[in-house]
Amino acid sequence: MIKGTAASDGIGIGKILLLEETVLEFTPHAVDDPASEIKRFHSAVNTLVEETTRDAAALRETAGEKEALIMEGHISLLNDPALKGETENLIKAGQCAEEAYSSMCDMFIGIFSSMDDEMMRQRAADVRDIKAGLLRILLGVKQTKVSDAPKGTVLLTKELTPSVTAGIKKGNIVGIITETGGKTSHSAILARALEIPAVLSVPNATSVLKNDQAVIVDGSAGVVIPDPSFDELNEYTEKREKFLRDKAELEKFRGLKTKGADGAEYELVCNIGKPSDAEKVIEFDGEGVGLFRTEFLFMDRSSVPTEEEQFAAYQKAALILKGKPLIIRTLDIGGDKEIPYMGLEKEENPFMGFRAIRYCLKNRELFRTQLRAILRASAFGDIRIMFPLITCVEELREGKAIIEELKKELTLLGITFNKEIPVGIMVETAAAATIADVLAKESAFFSIGTNDLTGYTMSCDRGNSNVAYLYSALQPAVLRMIERTIRCGVEAGIPVGMCGEAAANPKLIPLLISFGLTEFSVSAPSVLRVRKYIAKWSKAEADRVAKKAMSLTTEQEVSSYLATEI
Ligand code: PEP
Ligand code: MG
Repeated sequence: MIKGTAASDGIGIGKILLLEETVLEFTPHAVDDPASEIKRFHSAVNTLVEETTRDAAALRETAGEKEALIMEGHISLLNDPALKGETENLIKAGQCAEEAYSSMCDMFIGIFSSMDDEMMRQRAADVRDIKAGLLRILLGVKQTKVSDAPKGTVLLTKELTPSVTAGIKKGNIVGIITETGGKTSHSAILARALEIPAVLSVPNATSVLKNDQAVIVDGSAGVVIPDPSFDELNEYTEKREKFLRDKAELEKFRGLKTKGADGAEYELVCNIGKPSDAEKVIEFDGEGVGLFRTEFLFMDRSSVPTEEEQFAAYQKAALILKGKPLIIRTLDIGGDKEIPYMGLEKEENPFMGFRAIRYCLKNRELFRTQLRAILRASAFGDIRIMFPLITCVEELREGKAIIEELKKELTLLGITFNKEIPVGIMVETAAAATIADVLAKESAFFSIGTNDLTGYTMSCDRGNSNVAYLYSALQPAVLRMIERTIRCGVEAGIPVGMCGEAAANPKLIPLLISFGLTEFSVSAPSVLRVRKYIAKWSKAEADRVAKKAMSLTTEQEVSSYLATEI
């Protein structure tokens, strides 16, 4: 068994087709007729643009629009004036087309590969792909055609380039193994779009695995099993069938409303970290966004995003969601979320320290900038504002007062925004859950953040393995906090949601339904699964289970009991 990165779910069983790297060697030579060499270069570029256009169309059919756009990105690179112009200059200086184009591409590959940003490193893979394509054409080398691979083929290659992927026939390729590429690489995106199990970054895969070798690819666990035994084959055939059955079962929930067994309706929304994630919400059939963690807009950069940058980000998410709810949480930094340029002091107890709403209320201009950007974006969708880490009602009042001030300023400036924008809070501290009755009177909604609420209630740090046994949302103490928060919200007539990880926990779902939760906010890929879990429960059945679970005294008892009910 060889470990790699699990990049696309599912089990593939088949025979390896090793895509060896075509040797694209050439001997640099001086040219005496640069004009005709430039013509030869242009003609190769045109041929590759035509091939790539065909590949993009094929990908649009097999994988989808987004994947086709990756190929179309190659066309833009091929036509890039800097890359083309500098290559021509080198040819004019006497280099042959192969040498000139290679050295230009290598320069860009070097620049992109050294960047920290995954997207930029991905650009390097794109340039490598077009460099190989152009050299192949210039040198007249024939390419191995993936499209001719027979049924039951597992592709093995150093790097799965979009141009290789374009040739994949979905019914024939049952698995993909590569030596490079992470979860977010184009290879992974393409494999997932084609729904082909894939394990990437398998060390030395192209030398330890052989052409025609029998292999199992477990894209969910990230393992490859060469020459499987009879028992392994049986085990994985069963696993594959179960995976396919579960998947088909989940697909039945696509496009449906989220309803309990008694027809009660719930909202099933998603947690996102950047505006483009809103596309995933649509792709996975989410009904909106229950938590936009805006701190990610502040990370991986060297200064605070401006009001315009933030406005563009919030507006983008709102436009993608086309009127579906979008709950934007104001900046939640500190604790485990560090932003170096903000100069947060090292603290003895960062989780208990100067963070989230506390930091924002003391850094007024920063907070006002974010709130103004959110208010302006509220003209473009169903945007709601949510404050993190509330512990007392004064914080909520102060935050709301700033919003009121900003509303007046925007009105004077004639800028449109939603005057009725709902302002709610995260209930994620023991203090907030305890005074949920007080907070409910002044909040438009609650969203329970079990990730923090569990830690604060159990007084345990989720990163500390010595106390990890305490960190569970099924602890009787945490369940009482959750129950109380929901009850206070229901009594005050405000909606209560949950955006912590526990919202997708099948064991907790009947309890949440019984307590009166109406909104579940989960990661986009969990949407169909959670919709299926919810569909199992009527309020009456959920009440029965909740009553029993709440009478138990230990986490172990609660967890074991709930396991028997789901
Ligand atoms: C939570 O605490 O449950 C939550 C959703 O917030 P975060 O995970 O961003 O702290
Ligand atoms: Mg939190």
